[in-house]
Amino acid sequence: MLRLFKYLKPYTIPVLAVFAVVFLQCMADLYLPTLMSDIVNKGITNGDINFILQTGLSMLFVALGGSVCAIAASYLSSHAAMGMGALIRDDIFEHVSEFSLNEFDKIGTPSLVTRSTNDVTQVQMVVILMLRMMISAPIMMIGGIIMAVSKDRGLSWVIVAVIPALVAVIVTVAVRGFPLFRSIQKKIDKINLVLREGLTGIRVIRAFNRVDDEKRRFEEANLDLTTVQIKVNRMFAVLIPVMMFIMNFTTIAIIWFGSIRVDRGTSNVGNMMAFLQYAMQILFSLLMASMMFIMLPRAQASALRINEVLDTVPEIRDPAAPRRPDEGKKGYVEFRDVTFHYHGAEVPALNGVTFSALPGEVTAIIGSTGSGKSTLISLIPRFYDADSGSVLVDGIDVREMAQDELRSRIGLVPQKAVLFSGTVASNVGYGCGGSCQDDVAEAAETAQAVEFISAMKDGYDSTIAQGGTNVSGGQKQRLSIARALVRKPEIYLFDDSFSALDFKTDAKLRAALRAKTGDSTVIIVGQRVATVMDADRIIVLDEGKIAGMGTHRELYASCEVYKEIVASQLSEEEIA
Ligand code: ADP
Ligand code: MG
Repeated sequence: MLRLFKYLKPYTIPVLAVFAVVFLQCMADLYLPTLMSDIVNKGITNGDINFILQTGLSMLFVALGGSVCAIAASYLSSHAAMGMGALIRDDIFEHVSEFSLNEFDKIGTPSLVTRSTNDVTQVQMVVILMLRMMISAPIMMIGGIIMAVSKDRGLSWVIVAVIPALVAVIVTVAVRGFPLFRSIQKKIDKINLVLREGLTGIRVIRAFNRVDDEKRRFEEANLDLTTVQIKVNRMFAVLIPVMMFIMNFTTIAIIWFGSIRVDRGTSNVGNMMAFLQYAMQILFSLLMASMMFIMLPRAQASALRINEVLDTVPEIRDPAAPRRPDEGKKGYVEFRDVTFHYHGAEVPALNGVTFSALPGEVTAIIGSTGSGKSTLISLIPRFYDADSGSVLVDGIDVREMAQDELRSRIGLVPQKAVLFSGTVASNVGYGCGGSCQDDVAEAAETAQAVEFISAMKDGYDSTIAQGGTNVSGGQKQRLSIARALVRKPEIYLFDDSFSALDFKTDAKLRAALRAKTGDSTVIIVGQRVATVMDADRIIVLDEGKIAGMGTHRELYASCEVYKEIVASQLSEEEIA
C-alpha cells in the first residue's frame, strides 16, 4: 500500500490543501462546544441577552466555516485520489503491454482486468478516507481529550474506561476482516473469468446446449462471492450497533455522574454539556479511524495484487545495447539447435531444431497438429525466448535486437486470424500503421480478397465488427494476409493461413504471393501437402523435432513421416 503513495506525488498541492482545510475544520469543531458552554454558564445564568446573541452569532459563523472546510476537503481529497487511481491504471496498462505471453499465461487475463479496475477503486476509496482521517483523527482525539479535561477533570475517567472497549471491538473486526477481503478480490476474478468465457464462447455454448451448465457455473461463482460478502456485512451489522451502544452508554454515564457533580456544585451544566460533546467527538473520531482500519486491509489486499502486476518483470526485454543487422543482410532466418519448453510443460515443444530460411525462397513447415509449428513461428518475432540454442534474424540473435526493430522486419499472419473493430481498410492498413492506404487495394488483390470486399455494401469502408465476427473464417484469413502484405516486410510468416481457403483460392493466392514477395523470405506453415509441395525447402516437424528437410521429391524418397502425410492426402498421380 505504502508503495502506491508515490502516485500521489503529482497531487502534493491538493493533498497539502486537504490537510490544511481539515485542520481548520477540526479547530472549528473543537471550538463550538466551548462557545456553547459559555452561553450556558455566562449568558443564561446571568440573563445576559446581548452575550447570548453575540456568542450565538459567533457559533453560527464558526459552524459555517467548518462546513465550507468540510466541502473543500471532500473536493480536494477526491481530486487527488481519483487522479492517483488514473495514474496507477495507466502504469498497470503500460506495464502489462510489455508482458510477454508467458506473463499473460501466469496471471491470467480476467485477473488483470479486475486488478486494473476494481482493485484500483479499492485503493482510491481508502486514500480518500485516509487523507481526511490522517489529520483529523489525531487532532480530534488529542484536542478533544485536552478540551474535555479542561471542562471537567472529574469526569475524564469515563472516557478512559470506554476507549479500551472500543479499540478491542475495532481490532477484532480488522483482524477477522483481512482474510475475507482478500478472498473477495479472488472471487471477483473468478466471476470475471466465468463471465468472459460465457460471453466469448456463446456460440459453442449454445451449439452444445450447455447454456444451463454455464448458468450454473456462473451462479456458483456468484453465490461464492455473495457468501463472503454477506459474512463481511454481517460483521459490520454487528459492529455498528455495538458502537452505538458504547456511545449511548457513554452519554448516560456522563449525564449520570455529571449531574451528581452539578448537584454537589463541583461542576456546572454548561461544562457538563461541553464535556458530553467532546466525548462524542473523541469517540466519533475513533470510530472514523476504525473505519479506516477496516477498509485498510481490503485496500492492502488490492494493493498487493496491483504490486504483483507492477513487480512482474517481463521475461522478454530489449537488450541494453541493441544491435542492428547489416544493411545488406535482409531476410535471413536461422535456427541453431533451438529447444523450447512452455511453462510447466514436461516435454519440449521444440527440440534441437536447426535450419535456415533464405531470402527469395519459400520455406514450408508441415507436421501433424501439436508438432510445434506455431511454436516455431512464434519464436521468430520473439513472443517467447528459446531455452537453449538461438534464433537469428539477419545474422543477429533476436535477443540482441530491439523488439521494434525485429518486428518491423516481419509480416506475421497468425494461425488464429484476429481483426479489430473498424473498417476493411483500417484493418488491412493496420499493417503499416495506417500510413499506406494506397497499398491496401494492391495487398487485397494479392490476398484474393478483392472479390468479396467489392461485394460488401461499402467496399473498403464496410465495417468489421469486434473480433471480425461479421466475415467468414476464410475472409478473415485473407484480410489478415493482406494486412501482412501491406507492410512489405523482409520476412513473411504464414502460420496455417491457408487452411480455411478452398483449394482453388489457395493455389491462386500462393501464385500471386510468389510474384509479390520477390526477394523476401517466406515461411509457410501448412497442413496440406498441396500447399507446401512447391516450396524450395520443406521442413517436416514431428513432436518438436525435425524429421526431415528438403524438397518434395527428396523427402518423398527419404522421409517416412512425410511419406505418410502425403499418402494420406494425395492420389498416386498427384504424387508423381
Ligand atoms: P501446431 O501449431 O504444430 O499444431 P503448437 O506449436 O501450437 O502446434 O503446439 C505444440 C505443443 O505445445 C502442443 O503440444 C501444445 O499443447 C503445446 N502448447 C502450445 N501452446 C501452448 C501454451 N501457450 N502453453 C503451454 N503449452 C502450449
Ligand atoms: Mg499451429
